[in-house]
Amino acid sequence: MGNPTLEINVSLIRKSASAVRNLCLSAGINPTAVTKGYNALEAVTEALYDAGYRSFASSRLPHLKRVKDRLSAETMALRIPMPSEVGEVVEYADVSLNSELSTIRLLDREAMRRGKHHKVILMRDLGDLREGLFDEERFVETACAVERECGNVVLRGVGTNLSCYGSVVPTAENLSTLVRDAREIERQIGRPLDVVSGGASTSLYLVVNGEMPEGINNLRIGGANILRSEAREVSDDVLPELTNEALILKAEIIELGEKPTHPIGRLGMDAFMNVKKYADKGVRRRALLAAGAFDVGDYEKLTPIDSGVTLLGCSSDHMIADIEDSEREYRLGDTISMIVSYQAMLFATENDLVEKKILY
Ligand SMILES: *Cc1c(COP(=O)(O)O)cnc(C)c1O
Repeated sequence: MGNPTLEINVSLIRKSASAVRNLCLSAGINPTAVTKGYNALEAVTEALYDAGYRSFASSRLPHLKRVKDRLSAETMALRIPMPSEVGEVVEYADVSLNSELSTIRLLDREAMRRGKHHKVILMRDLGDLREGLFDEERFVETACAVERECGNVVLRGVGTNLSCYGSVVPTAENLSTLVRDAREIERQIGRPLDVVSGGASTSLYLVVNGEMPEGINNLRIGGANILRSEAREVSDDVLPELTNEALILKAEIIELGEKPTHPIGRLGMDAFMNVKKYADKGVRRRALLAAGAFDVGDYEKLTPIDSGVTLLGCSSDHMIADIEDSEREYRLGDTISMIVSYQAMLFATENDLVEKKILY
């Protein structure tokens, strides 16, 4: 037992999340903390709470239940609700992101049945082509319809999501479109909207650069609270509190020695049906590690902390590391430490067979 291990330094997370939140507040943005990337692990949620967050969001409703059970905070459902889960949405989420008027009507009916109010943020698709209303006129009309028709659902505001399916970068230009839509909706419904939500961690760089359009007053920040690599386009010399070292994956060496670098025999496909090319670098020293795709997803996005170690490949439960260039004398049973990617954070936090070690 004990391997692989994900070390979680909650004090680094608290500092980093606090810096992100304060930056947002200084720009008139009240950010929501997103829990899905770390599978809503309680120690991490508490660190974010200590950093000042009082609004928590996830695509998965059990994550929101976990927040509601422990903390006094607002919860937000990020994924467009399944028509089959509107009951749970109304139960566990104070707010949900939506794009289908008929689902909003279901939420309204469900909220009425439970004697509750539920808030919705209507999503506009600005080109990333995942969720949201694509057509501007229909977007404004739908918002007005929610305002007009719903008794127990309240239109809290509007939002957008970028950098996901279509890789579209948030810019002052595309986010200004959202602000313009918000102002038009406000004109038609005759009252101000509470929230104009301008995206996720990838929107942070606009705040750093002072380019965030006026009127954006919420971001939904997941990755960047925990991993500097998720604050894309934020340069290394700003926000020194951001870190890639709050989460470290440690995998134990189970076989050690020299082997050729090119496989021997007729080559077909690897464990995941990939046809691969192998560089022949002769015989080199390598370590076989007790961790694999099952624990981390795509090994190519992991970074060994020892710069003399290169990951060569992995199958479900094994990882192969070239250690020829390392200055360390690794022994059987030693561990190799790796900085994780967002995807590895998803996999490792979700996987019960990865031990979580909380460092305070
Ligand atoms: C996951 C998600 C976020 C948070 O994204 P990060 O890149 O982790 O900041 C925000 N909004 C929606 C709709 C999401 O699905």
